[in-house]
Amino acid sequence: MNLSVDVIVVGAGVIGSSTALELARAGLRVVVVDRLPGPGQGSTSASSAVVRFNYSIFPSVAAAWESKHCWEDWAGHLGMVDPAGMAGFRRTGMAFLDVDVAPTKKVMPLFDRAGVPYELWDATTLAGRIPGLDPGRFWPPKRLDDESFWDDPVGQLGALWTPDGGYIDDPMQAAANLATAARRAGAQFIFRSQVTAVRRSGGRVAGVDLADGERVSAPVVVNVAGPWSSTLNELAGVGDDFSITTRPMRQEVHYVTAPSGFNDGDRIGPVIADLDLGTYMRGAPGDGFYIGGTEPECDPLPWIDDPDVADLHPTQTAFEAQVIRAARRFGELGVPPRPRGIAGVYDVSSDWTPIYDRTGLDGFYVAIGTSGNQFKNAPVAGQFMRDIILAVEAGHDHDTNPVQYHGERTGLKVDLGAYSRRRPVNTESSGTVMG
Ligand SMILES: Cc1cc2nc3c(=O)[nH]c(=O)nc-3n(C[C@H](O)[C@H](O)[C@H](O)COP(=O)(O)OP(=O)(O)OC[C@H]3O[C@@H](n4cnc5c(N)ncnc54)[C@H](O)[C@@H]3O)c2cc1C
Repeated sequence: MNLSVDVIVVGAGVIGSSTALELARAGLRVVVVDRLPGPGQGSTSASSAVVRFNYSIFPSVAAAWESKHCWEDWAGHLGMVDPAGMAGFRRTGMAFLDVDVAPTKKVMPLFDRAGVPYELWDATTLAGRIPGLDPGRFWPPKRLDDESFWDDPVGQLGALWTPDGGYIDDPMQAAANLATAARRAGAQFIFRSQVTAVRRSGGRVAGVDLADGERVSAPVVVNVAGPWSSTLNELAGVGDDFSITTRPMRQEVHYVTAPSGFNDGDRIGPVIADLDLGTYMRGAPGDGFYIGGTEPECDPLPWIDDPDVADLHPTQTAFEAQVIRAARRFGELGVPPRPRGIAGVYDVSSDWTPIYDRTGLDGFYVAIGTSGNQFKNAPVAGQFMRDIILAVEAGHDHDTNPVQYHGERTGLKVDLGAYSRRRPVNTESSGTVMG
């Protein structure tokens, strides 16, 4: 096989598949290459798939709000109903507990500007609206072996409530839906095929070589390789002009039985971001309860060198730390003796904000550094990449005059310079998965 197309997308995760869909819809001949057997089987498959709007910068709030409208009208966004099944948006609401590291007063003006509805809850309202939740302030997060771990809370917390928060019930299926829609728009997917080289010709990208000796030629290549993004950038020889870098980090999400009354039949309990204790939580059907981490300072950051050798099973130590922290918030939460859950790998950028951009190599683009927080933004991330690629390939200088995105559903405008590889590090970032 020696294919020649307009665009090669490397990576068929939720963001790669979305990018392929939007580029194919724009009339380009697109090939997506992934080394795994199907769409969404990389870090996308491990995603908690939480939909929330709390971010430190307006472009990310706007992206999440625009994307929420796409998830809500998933068939409309895809332009089809996938006969293999549709991922679904569960609108449970989300309570973001008020902490200094991601203060409510900074987020509210961003919500006002984007038009995200919210309510400010005091501690009494929080405890009343989420049965079983202790609104105590435990700050700072502590390790289990810290003797002050079991200290009584000092004071109480309120929360910022967003009724439109929730989660997508099957992240891998969401990627598969996007891939099916992309195929219908003309994109071609090549699975079980690893990109081993990025070719150049005359100062611009020319295509990729695959592990089986085949090659695909195209004047545009998009790196959407998730935790493998920095490896692919090295293959392409780009990075010299990046002020933001990306690096893989292993993370665990644990699964336990929800505290009684948290889920009520078909009504799933809300998502809770609890940076006060260093966790986030969400309900799941059948009395399920997921608990993830928010990189509390007391825990070493679990950087890894090679995503390929990451152990994807939960460990006893991380399980106990996360579930016992959550049990301080929900006194009734049981802590099972054996760990249950999954591990996945984030592609973390210097400021936990992604890079959606061109690079110094003409024709080579990146949608990387998704930092454990871009699943929800996948519908819009594909459109960001479409707008950047079409503009730059038409001769636009995105580096000095950033492309402006217009949300089709909300009318919001996003200055895509916010996602530049050459931007200053976002000092407003919480320095955690919350972005
Ligand atoms: C544990 C966990 C929990 C998360 N929770 C949330 C959440 O609650 N909310 C949220 O918004 N986000 C969340 N995220 C983040 C979100 O899931 C990711 O940002 C998103 O799935 C990334 O999608 P992607 O398409 O960029 O990457 P991936 O899904 O990782 O896809 C990259 C693909 O590239 C392929 N690839 C890599 N290198 C090559 C190569 N050389 N040749 C061929 N193929 C290659 C891989 O096989 C892979 O399939 C979470 C992530 C994890 C890991």
